[in-house]
Amino acid sequence: MRRHGVEPVSYRIVPVDPHAHLFEITLTIAQPDAEGQRVALPAWIPGSYMIREFARHVVSIGARSAGRAVRLRKLDKHTWQAARCDGPLTLVYRVYARDLSVRAAHLDATHGFFNGTSVFLRVLGQEERPCEVLIEPPSGEEYAGWRVATTLPEAGARRHGFGRYRAADYDELVDHPVEMGRFTLDAFEAGGARHEIAITGRHDADTARLCRDLARICAQHARLFEPRTRRAPLERYLFLVMAVGEGYGGLEHRSSTALICSRNDLPWRGQREVSEAYRTFLGLASHEYFHTWNVRRIRPAAFARHDLQQENYTRLLWIFEGFTSYYDDLILVRSGLIGRDAYLDLLAKVITGVMRGPGRRAQSVAESSFDAWIKYYRPDENSPNAVASYYAKGSLVALALDLTIRSRTGGRRSLDDVMRLMWTRYGRDFFSRREGLGEEEFPRLLEEAVGLRLDAQIRNWAYGTAELPLAPLLKTVGVELAFGRGDQGPVSLGARLATRDRQVEIATAYSGQAAQRAGLSAGDTLVAVDGLRVDERALKALLARRKPGDRLRVHAFRRDELFECELELDAPPATDAKLKLMPGPGARATRLLGGWLGGGRSGPAG
Ligand SMILES: [Zn+2]
Repeated sequence: MRRHGVEPVSYRIVPVDPHAHLFEITLTIAQPDAEGQRVALPAWIPGSYMIREFARHVVSIGARSAGRAVRLRKLDKHTWQAARCDGPLTLVYRVYARDLSVRAAHLDATHGFFNGTSVFLRVLGQEERPCEVLIEPPSGEEYAGWRVATTLPEAGARRHGFGRYRAADYDELVDHPVEMGRFTLDAFEAGGARHEIAITGRHDADTARLCRDLARICAQHARLFEPRTRRAPLERYLFLVMAVGEGYGGLEHRSSTALICSRNDLPWRGQREVSEAYRTFLGLASHEYFHTWNVRRIRPAAFARHDLQQENYTRLLWIFEGFTSYYDDLILVRSGLIGRDAYLDLLAKVITGVMRGPGRRAQSVAESSFDAWIKYYRPDENSPNAVASYYAKGSLVALALDLTIRSRTGGRRSLDDVMRLMWTRYGRDFFSRREGLGEEEFPRLLEEAVGLRLDAQIRNWAYGTAELPLAPLLKTVGVELAFGRGDQGPVSLGARLATRDRQVEIATAYSGQAAQRAGLSAGDTLVAVDGLRVDERALKALLARRKPGDRLRVHAFRRDELFECELELDAPPATDAKLKLMPGPGARATRLLGGWLGGGRSGPAG
């Protein structure tokens, strides 16, 4: 494809040695920079806010022009510059791919998967040019049955075949992950678009059921953003699923998502209910699908054009990840896949998780968003004390805003209206306009959408660390929130424990709580309590017989040094949330509840 005499940037990718996990990429630049073309591999992948330095997996690289070798000089950890040359410049390089996650690339004899950010060098100065990609199979009989799953538009390749694909520019090129191998493939229609699901890895999933259930979820999302047309903003969408023994993760793209899950999370033939494991998978798929609107098209202004070489800062991930986390489960109940009780159980788990972490008092979700690169994505033993989750707490901020809007407008307005205004203003035409939500803009936008000023709430809940008034808000929809001690036992050590080599280790000592006050810290190994050797079981039995205020004599090792301390037991904090529908909540609450969770019927059990 040629536009105005501009030659496309051309890539060819071959799984050249699956056993050695090597992709070989040939990059041809028809019109290189006469001053010496520079090329670079991204430092991070959009959707996962951490510097990953993908260039560290480039194991060899060389350049040629007009049949002669061209010298390449490395300028920094990501960037190479070729010596001056007149004609087309060709680079050949190999990338080591053995990261079995949704964020990078993986290749072995069973399958290949890559994100463009791991394998396609960016041609500096030519990012706007169209790209062509020739995807080739590995050579050898044993790979005869391999095919390709991607939403990159075909440019000669048959659907699901090896061959030529294209992208309008580099940004689009790296926004369509590619799977190759012998995946299971199924398809369904939803929101006026064809949706496919490709499952890699050994599994016995009931794909017909998956399609039926995902179709309900996808239709519900489309309806939320486009209540009139009920259309998804794409012609084709692809769920790329990697089924493994243990695993969980997802990454969103403009018309596809890469998911990794436990094969036991997928429904098997004959299973009828929505098990907890399957609900986990549906929640993950729902989350990534919601991102099709919220973050891939409605973006913070800071992400309108990603700078792939360094951190991109925004204080708004509590909207883009938090609101997405709020709607992912909410859509499951609105589409009738889970009942109201099951939804309230899920919500109670989120509330409990947030309340158990002292970090919610140390950091706001706006600060957590900004520092995602160095904190949320790089957790350590002190994270529970220092970091608030813009996912979990962000989803509760969404809940608090939603219930506030519903109750103050008598159910006439909701957070859905806010999402729709962000969609029509920024999302619908994003790829032609590239404008995003300004850092300070949200309170005004919310006011415009629902006619309420909630500046103080937003300031306190998202930019401050005030506790969210969830109990009174939930009461307006006839839901009672109570906090209890759950199964925490009669006393608390004020620490998260881990067992290593059958010894009990402090994983985190919570700020100001019993273990920390006694002088214990993360990494300490508990040897004996009150003169008796302890392992996990003995410690649990011992604590079951104590009450708050009791003192324990603790022997512990810090590194190889033994020490003794006295620990005064705390009462376990009442952080475990329980949610239940109030009996006889009244007509107004019943109406608001119906507007919030949809339907009005209880949906299937599970
Ligand atoms: Zn997300």
